[in-house]
Amino acid sequence: MTTTEKTQQYVLQTYGRFPLTVVRGEGTRVWDERGREYLDFCSGIATCSLGHCHPALTNAISEQAGILMHCSNLYYIEPQADLAELIVEKVVQQPGKIFFSNSGAEANDGLIKLARRFGLKSGRYEVITFKKSFHGRTIGSMSATAQPKIHEGFDPLLPGFRYVEPNDLDAVKAALTDKTVAFLLEPIQGEGGVHPMTREFLEGLSSLAKQKDLLLLLDEVQCGFGRTGDLNGYETIAPGLAPDAISWAKGMGGGFPIGAFWVSEKHASLLGPGSHGSTYGGNALACAASKAVIETIISEALPENVKAREIQIRETIASWNHPAITEVRGHGLLLGIGINPAALDIPGGQVPSIHLCSELLGKGLLVPPAGPETVRLLPPLTVTSGEVIKALELVQGVLDSHLSS
Ligand SMILES: *Cc1c(COP(=O)(O)O)cnc(C)c1O
Repeated sequence: MTTTEKTQQYVLQTYGRFPLTVVRGEGTRVWDERGREYLDFCSGIATCSLGHCHPALTNAISEQAGILMHCSNLYYIEPQADLAELIVEKVVQQPGKIFFSNSGAEANDGLIKLARRFGLKSGRYEVITFKKSFHGRTIGSMSATAQPKIHEGFDPLLPGFRYVEPNDLDAVKAALTDKTVAFLLEPIQGEGGVHPMTREFLEGLSSLAKQKDLLLLLDEVQCGFGRTGDLNGYETIAPGLAPDAISWAKGMGGGFPIGAFWVSEKHASLLGPGSHGSTYGGNALACAASKAVIETIISEALPENVKAREIQIRETIASWNHPAITEVRGHGLLLGIGINPAALDIPGGQVPSIHLCSELLGKGLLVPPAGPETVRLLPPLTVTSGEVIKALELVQGVLDSHLSS
């Protein structure tokens, strides 16, 4: 049986997959089982921030695997303490503490638990989240996610969420009740179609939170750790913003599964001994991997490369003046190319973004869709100017070949 056949027979069919089996990767390139090469502008959906098999990450993992892979959180774990120090001191640069999980959904579940503890004394538990958001697939993070298609068939959801239009401070004010305890949001909505929050909105939420004694919780699972051109996604939009807690996953492991959340020192005691935990969370191997990733992002000044490549991408696409492109949204290397399906010949019944991503795959470029009318660009933070030129040539070629006459 081929990998495709085995997967169809033995793996639960929860994913719509493109017809490709990736067997090897190096930098921004991957290869399929027949040896065909692809440019990878998906990078594991924003996880492989250093590209594939970066020696700093490969070496850190093999070295740590030969020293200590796992011991439980019953004991102290050196790479865990080192990684927590690195994130607090060099990334967030605000006093606080870290909890380690294995994924983004788990990190967000932790933020929801934090919010409930925060509201305990005043009897508040309601978290305001935003339409088109994505926070994960556990029952908690899925309930926080304000997208009907994610909820479909899973009622009853976890109670205690209110969904509000993003970038609309008046709508937020109107949704406040005496049960409201926190705001949870992505500074740039990723899965929902690459929709950035505005500076006014983030700052407005922050002052509203202070005024009403609410927590400002940021989901940086996709936009954190350099992806936007700054170490924190929110800094790119609203420098100086002071969230109460932040969740991460995706890019922080460079492809190794790890997630985490940071809680400001002021609220760090809300989750004390016995209140939260994870068997594998903060595992020595995952933490050694993440530490290598974050150190490399800082030492190689990758956020600078991200900013330069963003400008290159925006200028190149603007120069096409393409009738099928409505806009380029996002920040850094979390970008969405908005597509106008009316300008294109898309076969009947096909979702435009998925059809274009399939066509690009056929031409040797991996890109993920984000919603029905957006093609996302998520190359590794290490992507070169030459690779950007090549990838954009493929995008332009596929769009041109689909122009309706
Ligand atoms: C991917 C994603 C998640 C979920 O992360 P998992 O590791 O898949 O659980 C949560 N929030 C955002 C913003 C994401 O992009």
